[in-house]
Amino acid sequence: MRLSRYFLPVMKESPAEAQIVSHKLMLRAGLVRQTAAGIYAWLPLGQRVLRKIADIVREEQDRAGAIELLMPTLQSAELWRESGRYDAYGPEMLRITDRHDREMLYGPTNEEMITAIFRDAARSYRDLPRTLYHIQWKFRDEVRPRFGVMRGREFLMKDAYSFDLDEAGARHSYNRMFVAYLNTFARMGLRAIPMQADTGPIGGDLSHEFIVLAPTGESDVFYHANWEQAAELSTVDFDDVAGLEAIVGGYTKDYAATDEKRDAAAEAAAGDLLRQSRGVEVGHIFYFGTKYSGAMGLKVQGPGGGELVPHMGSYGIGVSRLMGAIIEASHDDKGIVWPDAVAPFAVGLINMRADDPACAAAADALYAKLTAAGVETLYDDRDERGGAKFATMDLIGLPWQIVIGPKGLEKGVVELKRRAGGEREELSADDALAKVSA
Ligand code: ATP
Ligand code: MG
Repeated sequence: MRLSRYFLPVMKESPAEAQIVSHKLMLRAGLVRQTAAGIYAWLPLGQRVLRKIADIVREEQDRAGAIELLMPTLQSAELWRESGRYDAYGPEMLRITDRHDREMLYGPTNEEMITAIFRDAARSYRDLPRTLYHIQWKFRDEVRPRFGVMRGREFLMKDAYSFDLDEAGARHSYNRMFVAYLNTFARMGLRAIPMQADTGPIGGDLSHEFIVLAPTGESDVFYHANWEQAAELSTVDFDDVAGLEAIVGGYTKDYAATDEKRDAAAEAAAGDLLRQSRGVEVGHIFYFGTKYSGAMGLKVQGPGGGELVPHMGSYGIGVSRLMGAIIEASHDDKGIVWPDAVAPFAVGLINMRADDPACAAAADALYAKLTAAGVETLYDDRDERGGAKFATMDLIGLPWQIVIGPKGLEKGVVELKRRAGGEREELSADDALAKVSA
């Protein structure tokens, strides 16, 4: 993409309304613009990152055996009366009336809708187990939308729903998602600590939140110091969730629900190994048994002939919130430092002298090669000062920068810079190409 033809409105100063670093940087780097309280337009650069985050989430859901579908944002109030949640949900639900005076709502979550869809199709135990998911916009009329996309009113969520024959099956589905979540966040360069959590308004028996540590996070968390030593996830038996949690798990601010958790926290405290921080909730999983299937009349024929009521779980990831969390975890005083996996472009190619025909020819040629090699490149071909170009590239945080200027060209080299560590080297254009496409 040539920057001269792109749409990238960057800002020099942070807007006054932004309090935390990720919100400031998302506005300054031209990722989003607020269009109403807690509602954002995703500008081209932000849209690319959002898509990459969603793609990673999707790949890991697919790998865990979940099946993608797409449900609408608008739902009927009738559906929510079946579960009893229409009146219970409260003012966070945006209620709408259509031209025929039918009561509608903008979905804050989809337990009711998926239960109805599954109920109308599933006949026998052979239709189980299944986990279905979608990646769709949600609306919650938050009392205090703040921190940009971290607590928006409209936000993108991945929500999955599992249907199993019995509790043991449901716990297995839960464990698969638990592991998929750790893998998902790790691929984005995030260490998310699983914390035993309250089941809240969704209700049920078993729940974990996944928290990314950040000083500006809204949650108070305690965790074992082991976590800081990059607990070796690769050596952990992922099917053994209890064991996994014992190694990497955290404790919520009241040291969570169970006696074991409280004992473990006390033990860590005694050994001076209990750490306290703030964190951002990026995912939340629940097992809630037959709460919705029971209330909404979902039953299937069991293996022995009788009817059985499927056990369910639901599994959310804050796809749009993740963008804020990633920036909180990965930035410096010059701007964003994107992890490779979610960067909007892999390479920023800077022509230092757009008015110099030799520089322009060399930069055009390298841009063509990068594009042909499938390397996503943002090419700053504008007629601007070098300093301004460097500042923009550092602000938008692409993993690699390649700089072409007249002095280097005389020596037959370009400069390659890694955004994360700032290391620079001079090498031929072909070697730079080989390095960034590796
Ligand atoms: P929170 O406690 O932060 O309000 P929640 O427990 O209400 O979150 P869930 O209902 O479990 O959230 O939703 C699943 C995920 O969706 C959350 O883990 C979070 O990452 C994301 N999420 C929830 N509310 C918002 C919001 N207002 N803006 C952005 N993302 C959100
Ligand atoms: Mg909430």
